[in-house]
Amino acid sequence: MKTMTCKQLGGACDKEFHANTFDEIAELSKKHGMEMFQMGDEVHLMAMNEMQELMKSPNNMKAWFDNKRKEFDLLPEN
Ligand SMILES: [Zn+2]
Repeated sequence: MKTMTCKQLGGACDKEFHANTFDEIAELSKKHGMEMFQMGDEVHLMAMNEMQELMKSPNNMKAWFDNKRKEFDLLPEN
């Protein structure tokens, strides 16, 4: 298992996610983001807006994901 925080995954808090693959951890962070969104959490709303800006460009989005995937791959197992 590897660990990344909400912040590391483009979010806004220090909540930790644990997963074996990057896709899994991205899914966990997305779910958490949606929950925070539904609760109207301001810092997460701001972080999500920034992500949405980024995702307007498919190239930027791909670069972001490639980058995070690399970061995940380099993390030590825990
Ligand atoms: Zn969070």
